[in-house]
Amino acid sequence: MAYCFVTRQLPGTALERLAAVHEVDIWPERLPPDPATLRKLSVGAAGLLTMVSDPVDASLIAASSGLEAIANYGVGYDNVDVEAATERGIRVGNTPDVLTDATADLTFALLLAAARKLPQAIATVRAGDWITWEPMAHLGAEVQGATLGIVGLGRIGQAVARRAQGFDMNVLHTGSRSGSRISLESLLQRSDFVSLHCPLTPETFHLINERTLALMRPTAILINTARGPIVDQPALRTALENGTIAGAALDVTDPEPLPANDPLLSGPNLIVAPHIGSGTRAARERMADLAVENLLAALAGRRMPHQVNEV
Ligand code: NAP
Repeated sequence: MAYCFVTRQLPGTALERLAAVHEVDIWPERLPPDPATLRKLSVGAAGLLTMVSDPVDASLIAASSGLEAIANYGVGYDNVDVEAATERGIRVGNTPDVLTDATADLTFALLLAAARKLPQAIATVRAGDWITWEPMAHLGAEVQGATLGIVGLGRIGQAVARRAQGFDMNVLHTGSRSGSRISLESLLQRSDFVSLHCPLTPETFHLINERTLALMRPTAILINTARGPIVDQPALRTALENGTIAGAALDVTDPEPLPANDPLLSGPNLIVAPHIGSGTRAARERMADLAVENLLAALAGRRMPHQVNEV
């Protein structure tokens, strides 16, 4: 029996299966443990179940001498210093596939909402400004037949491309390795909608910046359901203000949560959702299943079913 620390209560029954085999502490609060508390509670743990709000950095890993496994609840694992974990022989796992469709659905929900200015239109109803049917009001962009540029044609990017086929969209894509990709510059110049689906890495940090935003069409809409720091937010704010692009819909920001007084939020034609891409009950329960399977395997001395490093 090993000691595991889980940084948040999770939906479903997966944590009961973990607790049947190991000694488990689950952080009970709505807010995550702050970094110092996380470090303190990780000392002595053999297994950690963490998520996007938990910075599992080199100092935490160095302080946790008995740590054998980090199961991250999410497909992205940029919150974990994987290199530091690998150096110490600690397995790191993620939860791919089970959240792909949920995240692709949210991506399309944001794309459609931004194209049709849905939040602004709904707000006029609540404000009592719906006084007549108007031929010129709330005019949005046509999605049918438009060109969608997908940055990172991995699991989620491909699921978004499948949805785009139903709208007869012309899909372009870029990636770091994939064969039929085009350059990011060409994708930005040719797309009516640009959707980000690459991981956050040193290469993708601020991939969307003043220079790359300037390549986009003034009618184009940016959708980001990948990670906030892939977009240079002050540059995006300026691009929205200046009409360099027509709109943006973000499920992820930098930082998270985005403070209510962040300058970005005063930008025009902007939708911000609170990082809910994987947020269906079924997806979140399956993510818990995978994270627990990862921990159980690693604590039994086996490779995790979804391990992201070689140890
Ligand atoms: P994936 O299958 O690994 O796909 C990532 C794709 O990004 C790969 O095709 C990869 O291409 C490409 N890529 C890597 N570096 C790139 C670069 N420099 N420029 C352009 N493309 C690059 O991952 P996934 O399961 O689709 O998830 C993608 C990301 O979505 C995750 O990393 C996570 O951050 C985010 N996510 C967010 C939510 C949410 O709640 N909003 C939910 C799930 C996932 P190559 O194979 O050619 O390297």
